[in-house]
Amino acid sequence: MRIELEHLEGRKGDFAHIYQPEDLNPLDERVLLSAPATVTGKVRLAGNEVFVNGHVDTRAQIECDRCLQPVESTVNADFALEYITGSEYESGAVAELTDADMSVSVFDGNTIDVDEIVKEQVLLAVPTRMLCREDCKGICPECGTDRNTGACNCVDKEIDPRWAALKNLS
Ligand SMILES: [Zn+2]
Ligand SMILES: [Zn+2]
Repeated sequence: MRIELEHLEGRKGDFAHIYQPEDLNPLDERVLLSAPATVTGKVRLAGNEVFVNGHVDTRAQIECDRCLQPVESTVNADFALEYITGSEYESGAVAELTDADMSVSVFDGNTIDVDEIVKEQVLLAVPTRMLCREDCKGICPECGTDRNTGACNCVDKEIDPRWAALKNLS
């Protein structure tokens, strides 16, 4: 969904949309939506700046860093964004705008892309490090067996780094 600023009545407006997971998936190489994403918010124009506040609710599926199994995570994210046009950015106006909890983006001055906002907010809300459980055993680097669900017969070849250096010489 895109919001065309020239169609905003009185320079402000509310928006609401429900995205199906397939509308936005994949969010990136490790994160997928696993439930519809509801976004609600308000847009307000003030001078050449646009303020967008709102909320995203959804569930995401994130790959475990060790075993790559999907892990579900609930997302409830509030956002407060500010947009300025490229020309204003170049004029240096951005220096005064850097408020701690506002994120300032440069845009074309005409449309706000809500799809991008939702994707970005979900990615910001999910953990950057994800384990399916604290003691996830991960995948065997030798044979690819998920060590949480089955044992394999590979022996851990932990090589002393000093010997590894010698081994490379032979
Ligand atoms: Zn895992
Ligand atoms: Zn193995």
